[in-house]
Amino acid sequence: AKKAGRDRAVTFEESMYQAAVAEAEARTELERALDRNEFVVVYQPIVDLPSGLPIGVEALVRWQHPERGLLGPNEFIAHAERTGLIVPLGAGVLRVACQEMARWHREIPGAAAMRVSVNLSARQFQEPGLVDMVREVLAETGIAPEKVVLEITESMAMEDVDATVLVLHRLRDLGVRLAIDDFGTGYSSLSYLSRFPIDILKIDKAFVDGITANREDAALAEAVVGLGRALRLQTVAEGIEQADQQSLLTGLGCTYGQGYLFARPISADEITAMLREMRAD
Ligand code: C2E
Ligand code: CA
Ligand code: CA
Ligand code: CA
Repeated sequence: AKKAGRDRAVTFEESMYQAAVAEAEARTELERALDRNEFVVVYQPIVDLPSGLPIGVEALVRWQHPERGLLGPNEFIAHAERTGLIVPLGAGVLRVACQEMARWHREIPGAAAMRVSVNLSARQFQEPGLVDMVREVLAETGIAPEKVVLEITESMAMEDVDATVLVLHRLRDLGVRLAIDDFGTGYSSLSYLSRFPIDILKIDKAFVDGITANREDAALAEAVVGLGRALRLQTVAEGIEQADQQSLLTGLGCTYGQGYLFARPISADEITAMLREMRAD
């Protein structure tokens, strides 16, 4: 691209071209990272709210970049979506997470009830091969399907409601559980929500943040927990950072929680140590 020194605007064609080049570069870099196994999976415990004891983990992807260090999903998931590489990447995360959990189930006495939650992206959700991919991973890793939770965001689910209902039923037929992620940030109509064959509502951190500071947020959180109860769903509150948020949500009847108060996302080895220690006391 032409640099400064010349007083002229970048033409539309040039900016399109530059965007295409940037896109192609991002794709190449992500492909290389996949080839070199630079993606790693970390796990954040999900706890029973009254007791704070872990009942499962959420798998979260990281990129161990050779130059830039450990990158969070916010720095690469959008690129992976746009280039389509989220499809193999997401399948890889599911495979690794199910392998680890199957191993914890086998090797750690008392860990047999633990579940593993994995995020699905919009692009993956639209892939015709999704259900077959999940079936293969279940067979390959030998994990009990009911210990696997697939999370789809509220906005993904609402894009094409009929298609969503169909795919969710096919996934559920495999025996996995389904969660609506980031609930409350999208635009679900309540009548649609009852059509989704889901098991879990994850209440977005945005609602949890203000819950102890202002009445309005507390009322909204209460409404969401009540909605979950009315639909016989489990509720997971995300982003719990303070003990008074935990007690307030517990009081509202929220089943599970997740957040820095309990644990940050940690490596598989750290989860292994945590599960062994739980067993010890
Ligand atoms: P999410 O699914 O809503 O995951 C929860 C995010 O909140 C995680 O960020 C987690 O580290 C963070 N978090 C948990 N507790 C707290 C807390 O108490 N305070 C604060 N400030 N943050 C907390 P992370 O790992 O950076 O992931 C961000 C998003 O990237 C995820 O949001 C999810 O949408 C996406 N993502 C992560 N892994 C994957 C993946 O394997 N596939 C896909 N498609 N998306 C992923
Ligand atoms: Ca999630
Ligand atoms: Ca979430
Ligand atoms: Ca979120």
